[in-house]
Amino acid sequence: MSAVIRTQTLGYPRIGQQRELKKATEAYWKGETKVDALLAAGRDLRRQNWLQQRDAGIDLVPVNDFSFYDQVLDMSCLLGVVPARFHWDGGDVPLDTYFQIARGIAEKDADCCGASLASEMTKWFDTNYHYIVPEFTAATTFKLSSTKVFDEFAEAKALGVNPKPVLIGPVTYLWLGKVMDNSGMDRFKLIDQLLPVYCELLQKLAAAGAEWIQIDEPALVMDLAPEQVALYDKVYAQIRAAAGKSKLIVATYFGDLRGNLSTLMRLPVDVVHVDVVRVPQSLDAVVEALPQDKILSLGVVDGRNIWRTDFERALNQLRTAQKKTGADRLWVAPSCSLIHTPVTLRNEGKLDAELKGWLAFAEEKLAEVVILAKTLAGQDTQAALASNATAQASRRTSPRIHSPAVKERCGGVKPDDLNRRSPFNQRADKQQQTYKLPAFPTTTIGSFPQTKDVRSKRAQFKAGTLSATDYDAFIETATADAVKRQEAWDIDVLVHGEFERNDMVEYFGEQLSGFAFTANGWVQSYGSRYVKPPFIFGDVSRPAPMTVRWSRYAQSLTRRPMKGMLTGPVTILQWSFVRDDQPRSTTCMQIALALRDEVRDLESGGIGIIQIDEPAIREGLPLRRGDWVAYLRWSVDAFRLSSCGVRDETQIHTHMCYSEFNDIIVAIAEMDADVISIETSRSKMDLLDAFVGFKYPNQIGPGVYDIHSPRVPTKDEMVSLLHKAAALLPPRNLWVNPDCGLKTRQWAEVEPALVNMVAAAKELRH
Ligand code: GLN
Ligand code: ZN
Repeated sequence: MSAVIRTQTLGYPRIGQQRELKKATEAYWKGETKVDALLAAGRDLRRQNWLQQRDAGIDLVPVNDFSFYDQVLDMSCLLGVVPARFHWDGGDVPLDTYFQIARGIAEKDADCCGASLASEMTKWFDTNYHYIVPEFTAATTFKLSSTKVFDEFAEAKALGVNPKPVLIGPVTYLWLGKVMDNSGMDRFKLIDQLLPVYCELLQKLAAAGAEWIQIDEPALVMDLAPEQVALYDKVYAQIRAAAGKSKLIVATYFGDLRGNLSTLMRLPVDVVHVDVVRVPQSLDAVVEALPQDKILSLGVVDGRNIWRTDFERALNQLRTAQKKTGADRLWVAPSCSLIHTPVTLRNEGKLDAELKGWLAFAEEKLAEVVILAKTLAGQDTQAALASNATAQASRRTSPRIHSPAVKERCGGVKPDDLNRRSPFNQRADKQQQTYKLPAFPTTTIGSFPQTKDVRSKRAQFKAGTLSATDYDAFIETATADAVKRQEAWDIDVLVHGEFERNDMVEYFGEQLSGFAFTANGWVQSYGSRYVKPPFIFGDVSRPAPMTVRWSRYAQSLTRRPMKGMLTGPVTILQWSFVRDDQPRSTTCMQIALALRDEVRDLESGGIGIIQIDEPAIREGLPLRRGDWVAYLRWSVDAFRLSSCGVRDETQIHTHMCYSEFNDIIVAIAEMDADVISIETSRSKMDLLDAFVGFKYPNQIGPGVYDIHSPRVPTKDEMVSLLHKAAALLPPRNLWVNPDCGLKTRQWAEVEPALVNMVAAAKELRH
């Protein structure tokens, strides 16, 4: 009799093949549908997901991974962590309160007590998924306040699946949250109040008949303080006792456990899950540390990417583990929840067969997990293994992926390619002679309002109902209009407005080789916002100039300098699915080389000021601080490679739209952009401290206009922000600009705001 190897998934995409969840929630928010319709849509999605996983052969199917907005917010509601401003009455948290925490209460919808700000949102570890940050205060108490997990458990049971409730572990839950009052409280102190409630939760799940319960503790892959690590032993001793007959799985993912490995391994639980896709080299240590009484769930199918699993690699890993565990103590699983991959390849009819043969989305990954388990158990999977081997072989050799010219060029990059010809001060002088800009020069970040008209013309063009000539003519008109407006407002350095761009990464990806796009490859970014990242499958090169035509056209309309506008190499990398057959730094360098050519073509086309946006540099930082240096080295190098091929007179700008710079300011300075624009208006210039402490050497445009809000800032407000900046930084280094691009705003807001902004700059000049 051949052995059976168990399979599980840690979570499954909830958005639906056709983005059903988005449609249902947004219709509900707009008041177009009643709550019953929303609840029914949720039930349908859950049923489909459970049955699909079960039918694919997954043994342990997760429940409570579904969410109407975010699984961390679900956990907060389950534990009764609702900020006071949402006036929760203490019963089960109503769905509308749940959405209010995520989205805020607008003035017009507040029945009693005024508007309330949504809770903060932040990135879930190093993914592009954003969660709602639990808010703690010294007065925080916990109390079970939602029946969602129990309801979904019963729902799945009724469908005949063997449901495995998924919870965020208590230590990770506290780790994810933030103390909002000024008490200075250590949030981990809350464990004493949290733990009894958490235990009650487990008792109830056990009483409901949960055979298995999955508790996610990804905080274990982070740098934790010793007293935080120490919590695990105490917490899990109690959890174990509370869970009664239920068996416990503790899941970690996204990184290496390092010093926390022994902590994980001694927890009194039945199964530990470890991600060996992200850190394959940790496998031996994991296997070595696994105690005799534990089952190892090995995450060998990449839950963060879209590539078909290399079965040979995965089987090697599994067999290494199996030598120690035997068949009954080894489970096969994706590395993490599959919410970070698109749903299915079924609706990708437009992708050619070869490309498609290299991919696996969530649905296809289920089949992979099952085949791997069957292979391990000695069942006949010959056909599947052979087809997988063929796909892997074709990825290794396909000329669509491997370009000798690109590889050769990458190999030939010299240290000098990363340096401007002269140091900043000399460049600044030459640039000033060239452009003769006034003090406090004004500019904007690139995009102007993407009106309905712009979006509908693009949609028509893409659908083939508007010809390329007509579309281009339309973009020219929009650009010309933007140029006229900027001249009328008396802006110093103009932009063309980016009307031709759908998205700052997609626009470039569409024109670079090595990139491909899906029709339905959506992934949840937060709430009902999903993104459809391009994927980089091959060596990257630039068959033709990408932006020169539009920048030159715009420049031809004005005597003022027109700023060229590019998305930087790190941001393009960061916002795409990236090939897994070479280091990310190599792919980034290839993108940088393509952009370097674009920068030079802009320069020789008469565009002497070029902005290379890098809003994603910070979010690419590795989870562990010890890994930051290496990352910052190659990402700064990539920026420099893209930007340094120009004459001294050419002024390179960069832009970043966030404000936490303190810990990476040195790297930001090393990018050596002549000018950097950053977000500062929301923080009232607080973040400039980073630049002062360090004496940032080059020019800076601290944003004075919060473009995230429809509010039009007054001249006086902006003057006062600028005075603040001028007190902290050499005034001759200051530029005047908004926080970010204006594409989400209306002309009616942008117009007065920029008129005020120019007036503010002029006042400073006096
Ligand atoms: N140039 C881009 C724009 O103005 C920058 C966007 C961004 O920083 N996210 O829209
Ligand atoms: Zn920005």
